[in-house]
Amino acid sequence: MAKRDFYEVLGVNKSATAEDLKKAYRKAAMQYHPDRAKGEAEKASYEAKFKEINEAYDVLKDPQKKSAYDQYGHAAFEPGAGFGSGAGAGGFGGNPFGGAGGFGFDFSGASGGFASEDIFDMFFGGQRGGRGRQTANAGRDLHYQIQITFDKAVHGGEERIQYEHLIACATCKGSGSAKGSDPVTCDRCNGAGEIQQASRSIFGQFTTLSVCPKCQGEGKMIKDPCQMCAGKGRVGQQEELIINVPVGVDNGTELRFSGKGDVGARGGRAGDLYIEFRINPHAYFKRRGNDVYVNLPLTLSQAALGAHIEVPTVDGKTTVKVPAGVNHGTEIRLSGKGVQRLGGSGKGDQFLVVDLQVPKKVSGEEKKILEELERKEPKPKMPWG
Ligand SMILES: [Zn+2]
Ligand SMILES: [Zn+2]
Repeated sequence: MAKRDFYEVLGVNKSATAEDLKKAYRKAAMQYHPDRAKGEAEKASYEAKFKEINEAYDVLKDPQKKSAYDQYGHAAFEPGAGFGSGAGAGGFGGNPFGGAGGFGFDFSGASGGFASEDIFDMFFGGQRGGRGRQTANAGRDLHYQIQITFDKAVHGGEERIQYEHLIACATCKGSGSAKGSDPVTCDRCNGAGEIQQASRSIFGQFTTLSVCPKCQGEGKMIKDPCQMCAGKGRVGQQEELIINVPVGVDNGTELRFSGKGDVGARGGRAGDLYIEFRINPHAYFKRRGNDVYVNLPLTLSQAALGAHIEVPTVDGKTTVKVPAGVNHGTEIRLSGKGVQRLGGSGKGDQFLVVDLQVPKKVSGEEKKILEELERKEPKPKMPWG
């Protein structure tokens, strides 16, 4: 049966003073005193209520018990449920990776295009996270960023990286013990890796489990450490990796290299290596998703009359027909001239953004022509009439 809130039982709120509590208790106790009950059924109900009222007042009148109740609720007084257990829980037994519940999108099966790329098996579209690993001694995942050119992001290519990770010590094969020596069982925890501690509090005795401080939870101790790795079982190693940059990567695209992170302690599985791409800005191409934007400077007459202009695209030069009558900021779309979609087919578009070049200074001849134009052209209709 759910226990009612002590404050509710007495009909007061948490800020009630000792005096308020006393008054409320007296009133409630009078009202539900079993002697005042009429009939057997009411007597049973009054008895239960009277008991509840007394229990509530017993706790709330005592400042120490009240403070424990305010913090932990009824749990503070339940037998066996020491309120200290919360403090121990974070230390041991909690899955250290439990919080990272992210997931990746596995491209390896979904896309035929990448099936041959055995060097990586998963894309992370800016997402990261573990895969709910359970083993406490799994190695760390490593995260690196690499800077690549705009062109390589658009067309793909190779990128060589160097990084350091922990690998199993070759001398001791990761055990940490010198040749011919075996780890011994920890004498503090007898191999359990954790120790029980009895604590006393004002609410009674309870026990907590904590990581054995002598063996750090391993349950075993290295008696004769390997000289090569100082008993750690792992050593740092410089690694060179050639990465196949997939076509269409963008800022934040991540590749995962399974098992290329740090190897785990005592033979634990290796973590993964994540490479995140950062793309260098291009001199004139600007990318938004798979679309590419380029500024297109035009003179007044080109904007008014239209023009044929040679423009760059990510796949080389092309000539476009600029229609007559474009304005500053007009976007001319070159369909399918953008960046190829990552891991898929189809391309984005390119947009030429008209950048009208109004002359700051005009020569005599130009001035004459413009003045003549000014006389002849119809005046714009003003929004204000
Ligand atoms: Zn070693
Ligand atoms: Zn131990």
